[in-house]
Order: sequence, then structure tokens, then C-alpha cells
Amino acid sequence: MKHRNPVETMANTRHEFGEHGGVNMSVEASTTFTVLSSGTMPEIFCGEKGPDQGGCYLYGRHFNPTVYNLSKQLAALEGTEAAYCTASGMAAISATLMQLCDADDHIVASNAVYGGTYALLHDLLPATTGISTSLVDITDLAAVEAAITTRTRAIYTESVANPTLRIANIPALSEIAHRHGIKLVVDNTFSPLLLSPKELGADIVVHSMTKFISGASDHIAGAICANGDFIQQLMDLHTGMLMILGPTMDPQTAFNISLRIPHLPLRMKEHGHRTQVFAERLQTLGLTVSYPGLDNHPDHDLFSELHCSDYGYGGVLTLDMGTEVLANRLLDLLQNEYHFGYVAVSLGYFDTLMSCSGSSTSSEMTEEDKLAANISPGLVRMSIGYTGTLEQRWLQLTEALSRVGAT
Ligand SMILES: *Cc1c(COP(=O)(O)O)cnc(C)c1O
Repeated sequence: MKHRNPVETMANTRHEFGEHGGVNMSVEASTTFTVLSSGTMPEIFCGEKGPDQGGCYLYGRHFNPTVYNLSKQLAALEGTEAAYCTASGMAAISATLMQLCDADDHIVASNAVYGGTYALLHDLLPATTGISTSLVDITDLAAVEAAITTRTRAIYTESVANPTLRIANIPALSEIAHRHGIKLVVDNTFSPLLLSPKELGADIVVHSMTKFISGASDHIAGAICANGDFIQQLMDLHTGMLMILGPTMDPQTAFNISLRIPHLPLRMKEHGHRTQVFAERLQTLGLTVSYPGLDNHPDHDLFSELHCSDYGYGGVLTLDMGTEVLANRLLDLLQNEYHFGYVAVSLGYFDTLMSCSGSSTSSEMTEEDKLAANISPGLVRMSIGYTGTLEQRWLQLTEALSRVGAT
């Protein structure tokens, strides 16, 4: 099946000109907006007269024009009716789940998720709201279905799991969720453009735009892409998690990120190309490498069926060095002697970022849960950048591998 290429939707979306006709939109720095006819204030306040209904913006925490324009770009990227941006990826995830659940409700979630999301589900929500989560192997569809109770409100998963790189079967999960009358929420941070979760059946798509979408590791940002009704719920003046908890995106951040969306396709292609080449070559050297673009990856066929093939299999691979000591020796050499990349958490940067997942971005997990999710102590996650030439980077990588005795 040929999947949508989000670039076509994005190119058909109305372009917002700047206040003076500039090719770029303006940054709206005001926190409050003039109501030209004071009689309309009640309608504006109850959400009946927004900027698209002849009313106006109310207040910057509610809607800001610059953030609203970036949000429209995100809705086009994900093919959803609406979207709104947030101060971080975690704000997008927590606001979404808290909006879907009342106290003592239940979530079924993948057991291989970003560490912050794991802490939200495993520690924070149960302690403060009574919302509980069953963590399951999301590739085991029978286990997902068996975990659903009468209190379950959502299935939550990452499209590409961090850091295990297992792929969620979004169409099958969507079928299960909808049969039980609950929502499927997908974190698409690892695979913007590659996977379109909404097209595949998800109800709500969340992003950490801090990663590939920003691409420069200089902004913390997030987004929630959904139907207009859900975005309105998040903005409700009494019960909206974005309106009341207030994780608002700064308009200058929205402006900066909006200028990177046009070259996101070029960047994703090059991230994907280089990661594919490195993964194949590392495998040929006999190393324990995992990447969805490799034939022997357990979800290679599934990913091939679900993705938009123009962008490959993503920009992240993992290399299992066996022990944490060996992994750290390799990382130090790669950074400090060979200039291959940086030992840092996060991903989607123009340079390569590398970290040992078990002791960094997944350190929130208990040893038992790490084991269940297959996160071994020597597992190195690499987000492959596109600076320098491919052959130059490959030489740096192989020389360091040989120095630690891995090849
Ligand atoms: C980084 C990350 C998050 C959290 O995003 P922030 O912008 O740091 O709040 C959530 N999900 C995934 C998959 C991530 O990689």
C-alpha cells in the first residue's frame, strides 16, 4: 500500500504572510488581544467566537497567532483536523493523558517508552490522580487486549519505541482500541513524515518537537495533533489541561520551529540514508546492531508496510556493546578522539548524539522493567547526524570500534 506523503498536505496548506507582507509570518509577542466590540466578550470567553469565527484571540495562554500557525503546520504534517503546540513533549503527553482520563481511570501502555513518559505513568499519575497503567509488550496484541478493563480510556504507545526500536502495529492497535470504545494515542517523535499514525488509525498523535522536528537541539517543544473537538477540550476554560495547567509555547519558539518544517523532509531523508548504510555495514562487521531498515529486525516487514517509503527507516540505531564499561570506552573515544559525535541524551540533531540508554534516558525504569523491555546495560543508542561526509564518519566509527577490540 502506498501511504500519504505529508509533504503534499503541507504544500497545500495556506501560507501565513507576515504582518507587513513578509514571506515569513510575524511573531505575535502580545499576551492579550484587543476586543474591538466589547459586547462579543462573553462569546469569546465561552469559546464560541475564536479568531476563525470573526472574534479574536483572547489571551496568550489560550491561543497565540504564531503558535496557532505552527500548530496548523503540525496538523498538516500529521494529517489531523487540528493541533496545538506545547512547551515540551512531556507537556503534550501529560496533558493528553490527563484530558482523556478521570481520577482512577486506567491506561494500557507500551512497556518500552521514553523514561519521562514511564515516570508519568508508573509514578506520578498513580500517586496524584489514581490513574493507573498496565505496561505491556505493545507488539503482543493479545496482551494489549487482555489488559483492557472497564476503566481503560486509552492505549498509549510510541510509533518507534525508545530505545528498543520495536514498531507499534498501529492499524491493529487502532482496531482493538475502537472495538473497546477507547482512544489510541501515538508518540510519533522518532518518525515524523515516515509514519502517519492518524492515517493508520490513531486518534491522537503527540510529538516532542525538541528532536527531529526542531533539528538543532536548541528548543524544548511539543505538539498534540487530534480532531478539533479534542483540541477545544484541552483549551476549555474550566477543565482544559493546556488552558489550566498552562504549559504554553513561547511565540518566538513557535516562529523558530516553523522555519525548520520546510527542510524537515530533506533532513529525515539524509538521517535515514546514513543510518541505513551504517547499520548494514555494522552488521557485516558482525556487531549486534538493531535498525528497522535491516532485514533481520523483528518488525522490518511491518515497518515496510506502514511507512512512507520516501523517507526510509529513521535516524536512530542501537549497538549492543555487551557491557556498560565497553560501551562507555567506545563513546569516550568516539567523542574525544575521533570527533564522530557527542555523548549526549536526546536525538534528531544535525550531529550524531550517542548515549547508553540503560543509565540515561531509560534510567527511570526499574531493573525488572528494563529487562522486560530488552534494554541491556551495554546498549548504545545512536541518533545519526548528517554533518561531515558519510565515508569520513564511517572511518571514525570503525577506527574507534577497532581500538576497543569490538572488530
Ligand atoms: C524526548 C522525548 C519525549 C519528551 O520530550 P521533551 O520535549 O523532552 O519534553 C517524549 N517522547 C519521546 C519518544 C522522546 O524522545
